[in-house]
Amino acid sequence: MKIPDIIIAIDGCSSTGKSTFAKLAASRFAFLYLDSGAMYRGVTLAGMEKGIVRDGQIDLPALQALLDGGLDLHFRHEDGKTLLYLGDRLIESEIRTLAVSGNVSPVSAVPFVRRFVDDKLHAFSKGGRVIMDGRDIGTTVFPNAELKIFMTAAPEIRAQRRYDELVAKGDHPTFDEVMKNLQERDYIDSHRETSPLTQPADAFVLDNSHMSLDEELVWLQGLIQGRFQILQ
Ligand code: C5P
Repeated sequence: MKIPDIIIAIDGCSSTGKSTFAKLAASRFAFLYLDSGAMYRGVTLAGMEKGIVRDGQIDLPALQALLDGGLDLHFRHEDGKTLLYLGDRLIESEIRTLAVSGNVSPVSAVPFVRRFVDDKLHAFSKGGRVIMDGRDIGTTVFPNAELKIFMTAAPEIRAQRRYDELVAKGDHPTFDEVMKNLQERDYIDSHRETSPLTQPADAFVLDNSHMSLDEELVWLQGLIQGRFQILQ
C-alpha cells in the first residue's frame, strides 16, 4: 500500500517549543522534519556575514542580489536529524545566537525573502510525510496541510526556555534581553504585511505552558490517530 503524503503544519510564537516538539513527533511517527525558521535564520546569518544586515537594518538591493545569485542554503538529513548547511558549512549552531535572533524578524518580513524560503520549503517537502514548523506554514506555505497545530505558552515561560537554551550553549544573555527579543519578534512577526503570524482558523491549539513533552506527544498521537487512522 502506498503511504499517503501528509503534511502537518505547526505554527506559533517564538519559543513555544515548536521545533523540539516537531522533531520528536517526526521521529516518533516517521515523518520528515523541516524547520522553516532555520531557513530565515540562515538567510539572516548569510546577510550579516556579508555586512548586508546589521542592527536590524537591511541593504535590500544587496540582499536581493545575494538571493538571486543562488544562495546555497539547504537541509541535509544526517543520523535522523535535518541540519541546515550554507554551502558545505554546517550552520545549525551559528543561526541560533542572540545576534541572529535580533535580526531575523526584519529579514523575514521582506517579501522576496519569504518567496525565496517558500520555494525552498516546497522543494524539500515533495511527497512523503512532512512535519514543518514556523509562523505561516498552515496559513501560507501549506494552506491545505492535512493537520494544523497552533502552539502557545505564557510569555515568561517561553523566555525562560529560550534563556536556558542559550545558557546551555555557553551564551551569557540576561533574562531581560531574551524577553525583549522574544517580544520584539512576536510583535514584528504578527504585524508584518506579508504572511503575518496568525492562528489558522482550522488549527488545533496546543497551550503547553504546563505540559511535559511526553504529554504533548500523547496529545498529538490522539489527534493523528483519530485523523488518519493509519498511524500507530
Ligand atoms: O522558529 P524560529 O524562532 O527559529 O524562527 C526565527 C524567525 O524566523 C521568527 O522570529 C520569524 O521572524 C521568522 N519566521 C517566519 N516564518 C516562518 C518561520 C520563521 O517569519 N515560517
